[in-house]
Amino acid sequence: MQWRTERIIFSQLFQSSMVSVHVPSLTFSNGYKMPVIGLGTWKSKPGDVQRAVVDAIDAGYRHLDCAYMYGNESEVGEGVKLKVQEGVVQREDLFITSKEDGDLIPTDADGNIVLSDVDYLATWREMETCVHLGLTHSIGLSNFNSQQIERLLVSAEVKPANLQIECNPYLTQKKLINFCQSRGIEVTAYSPMGSPDSPYLKAGMPRLLEDPGLHQVAHRVGKSVGQVVLRYLVQQGISAVPKSVTKSRIQENINIFDFELSDADTSYIDSFNQNLRICHRDHARGHKFYPFNVEF
Ligand code: NDP
Repeated sequence: MQWRTERIIFSQLFQSSMVSVHVPSLTFSNGYKMPVIGLGTWKSKPGDVQRAVVDAIDAGYRHLDCAYMYGNESEVGEGVKLKVQEGVVQREDLFITSKEDGDLIPTDADGNIVLSDVDYLATWREMETCVHLGLTHSIGLSNFNSQQIERLLVSAEVKPANLQIECNPYLTQKKLINFCQSRGIEVTAYSPMGSPDSPYLKAGMPRLLEDPGLHQVAHRVGKSVGQVVLRYLVQQGISAVPKSVTKSRIQENINIFDFELSDADTSYIDSFNQNLRICHRDHARGHKFYPFNVEF
């Protein structure tokens, strides 16, 4: 498997006029737009994800975060198809991210994961071809560090529109966000809730949604902890893709545009940073393209 080329392929979005929640968008350097809240779909079981997509579109989501590797893209598609057939949305209303890994997780005879040596610049050239062929509007990166992005920018014909990274109050990623924003690359936060259902979450790791400081802010502003976290992220000019298969949470997570966090609250939440990275693979640490060995 080629480490950290969860290659992101974006599709078109236009905000539908039918929804009651107005979700602001980020505008990519190529002019296409991405709503700042999208529905995450990793770990959403095939039996649940179609309903989650339907509930999300009904709640006003026009941004879905998907991947071949999540093993549920066809069910996501069924949910989209249903809402299109009902006339609630058109395909053009939706911004859909996909990520392809080729062979999912190849292993050797001993069961060890086989990492690829393919240079991500070569992968990027193939992704650029997708743009040239009209197969996608925008292409982006995930889990790249600033040095890798800089290296890619030197030769890229098509600039990355977006970087998707793990980001939440325990992993604020301030430097990487500033770096991307200064180069016209929009940022998306994955695992915004601290990924409480992640297989990578280890015993003893702090649980973001249980943080007493976040509960204190949530209580003061009259919102849920999840809403405070998402508001904190989007107020930094980035987007977030919370995953949920629970209708009430799907609705809650998009209803964050009727309040603002004060500068004091934002600074307070900034102080929770612990550079706690949950989503990474230990076996890839020694790989030449392992992205998390540098500060940002
Ligand atoms: P999240 O941080 O989004 O957490 C998801 C978990 O939080 C689920 O258990 C969900 O429960 C729960 N939850 C969601 N909303 C709330 C809420 N308001 N209150 C309480 N609990 C809540 O984790 P993910 O790691 O799934 O990240 C989000 C998405 O980011 C992924 O699904 C995927 O699309 C993307 N991603 C991309 C990666 C990459 O490498 N590019 C890597 C990892 C994720 P329930 O579903 O039961 O409601």
